[in-house]
Amino acid sequence: MAATIIDGKAIAKQIREEVAVEAAQRAAAGKPKAGLATVLVGDNPASMAYVSSKQKACAEAGIESFGHHLPATATQEEVESLVKSLNDDQRVNGILVQLPLPSHLDEERVLSAISLGKDVDGFHPINIGRLAQKGRDPLFVPCTPAGVIELLDRMGVKLEGCNAVVLGRSNIVGMPVALLLVRRNATVTICHSRSKDLPGICRAADVLIAAVGRTEMVRGDWIKPGAVVIDVGINEIKDPSHPKGKRLVGDVAFNEAKEVAGAITPVPGGVGPMTIALLLRNTLTAAKLLNP
Ligand code: NDP
Repeated sequence: MAATIIDGKAIAKQIREEVAVEAAQRAAAGKPKAGLATVLVGDNPASMAYVSSKQKACAEAGIESFGHHLPATATQEEVESLVKSLNDDQRVNGILVQLPLPSHLDEERVLSAISLGKDVDGFHPINIGRLAQKGRDPLFVPCTPAGVIELLDRMGVKLEGCNAVVLGRSNIVGMPVALLLVRRNATVTICHSRSKDLPGICRAADVLIAAVGRTEMVRGDWIKPGAVVIDVGINEIKDPSHPKGKRLVGDVAFNEAKEVAGAITPVPGGVGPMTIALLLRNTLTAAKLLNP
């Protein structure tokens, strides 16, 4: 039987509407508007596009956004001093430093400069450290990993006791997803570029998360019948038949996998839209921390 297609676009829309309703209720109660500051360094086109879609989503949800764009030549001190001024700005509830930063900048120092209560991207070393510790709770969880768990929850997937396999161990996706799954009492296997027998490991997964950035690496025969497959990968491939001459595909061979899996996210329209939805929700949460 063909898999249920997990409609991340619809679920993300639902979350964005929930945020907009709550933001409007807070405005009606006379509370200050939630505000998100974005910090972009340099002119990476993908980063510029991400920041602009985050700002547009804020406007739609009734969240104020404050865009800051520094040149690619900005010094460590300039970036940190901008972050510190945003920490002190009462209108700003969340600070998002768009990654990756230009290579001359020390990313960890910049992220560490963000106030914990404004770390809506969840990458502050203390928030990540708390995520990894039993009995400690981060104030914020990184948005894409949180989006993965939200999709699983809203699809009613039982995580406790399941075998979860995470392909990828990056700071941004793989590792935080794995930590979140452990916190939900899944038994988690983390794979990376040196792992042996990926197909065999994947075949034992009740829940399979692919976050490697390798076009359609996960084949249909890697998937346990009925498994839930979440494809985080975003890979651009050439496609002359497409109006733009290219299109996006995931880390999973979708057409093969959907014949075996119980449920699966498409690319695009799966995990992608969840990231911004969770960023909006984190920003509202930050505003509530300041003004309950
Ligand atoms: P990284 O390149 O930082 O990490 C990739 C991970 O995959 C690494 O842990 C790497 O292993 C592992 N890996 C690479 N090749 C293989 C292989 N052949 N076999 C097994 N493991 C492998 O990528 P990100 O985590 O940042 O992103 C992963 C994907 O998710 C990308 O396609 C990215 O575009 C997408 N993405 C989507 C987002 C969204 O939907 N909003 C947000 C962020 C990312 P090792 O550690 O050994 O190098």
